[in-house]
Amino acid sequence: MSHDDPIRPRVLAIDDSDLVHRLLRARLRHERIDLQSVRTAADGLRVARETVPDLILLDIDLDDSDGFEVLAQLKADPATHDIAVIFVSASNETMDRVRGLDLGAVDFVGKPFDVTELRARVRSALRMQRLLRMLSQRAQLDGLTGLWNRAYLDDRLRKEVAGALRHGTPLSLILCDLDRFKSLNDTFGHPFGDEVLERAAAILVGGRAQDVACRYGGEEFAVIVPAAHADEAAGVAERHRSRIEQVTWNERPSVRISASFGVADLSGLDGDPTPEKLVAAADAALYVAKTSGRNRVVCAEPAEWPRQIAG
Ligand code: GH3
Ligand code: MG
Ligand code: MG
Repeated sequence: MSHDDPIRPRVLAIDDSDLVHRLLRARLRHERIDLQSVRTAADGLRVARETVPDLILLDIDLDDSDGFEVLAQLKADPATHDIAVIFVSASNETMDRVRGLDLGAVDFVGKPFDVTELRARVRSALRMQRLLRMLSQRAQLDGLTGLWNRAYLDDRLRKEVAGALRHGTPLSLILCDLDRFKSLNDTFGHPFGDEVLERAAAILVGGRAQDVACRYGGEEFAVIVPAAHADEAAGVAERHRSRIEQVTWNERPSVRISASFGVADLSGLDGDPTPEKLVAAADAALYVAKTSGRNRVVCAEPAEWPRQIAG
């Protein structure tokens, strides 16, 4: 197993004693984990933020701070909030254990370690961590189509916009709305409508690996297109449009579906770009696509265009 095997859980040990680090390393040697060791609270917090390990083994008595303070800071930062923390301490005081657990630690291991117990607790914490991650991912998926849902879209778009502004990279958003979908439901029934939604979703998710397809709600979808200007995103949308238009059903040969698309680009927004403005711009373009005949891709006009025309 290579050291950087991505599936190998990462464990960070924060303890001021070299002896403890050597002991941990020796006793967890046969576990399938990547163990990283730091000696101070400051290094621990920094590494935790940088690498977001799956589990932290945290000593209560540190030279530059105490474990309770470190735990409180980990829990206060959204980036490190979900990391499982096991307290490791020589203290057998019930109050210390209670305080650690109340602050959000998942478990407590006494020093000196009992090898078998330490391994079992590390394994159990990692198992719980994996289950929690699966659960939270499940909560962000749309049940019908398997695409990311609206909650995920909002969260991801916020992060993508922040990243694009920080790095000065382009970012585009595609909104897609199936055409005359209500009449399809009315004519062929809701279960067939669901089937159509699944086919459309499969097309949207089958684009480029870096694009993020989400179900926006009902028969509306959104695709985040990172590192792309509107013209490139419009090309992506056009390929989706064309594939949707070509879908056929053996058992319903008369049925054809189509979708309208609105595309907007972060750099085309007026004033300070925000996720909300990006969605609004794509939505306005989608509205134009709908009112100008459907089954087409329309790009939002950059905010400065009307002013240039007026000037
Ligand atoms: P337009 O071309 O203007 O977009 O017309 P439309 O009929 O697609 O738009 P409208 O918003 O009037 O209708 C959307 C329909 O989508 C209404 C609703 O019943 C249906 N719908 C929303 N969610 C689902 C779903 O999960 N399954 C099915 N089968 N239908 C859904
Ligand atoms: Mg709609
Ligand atoms: Mg529609």
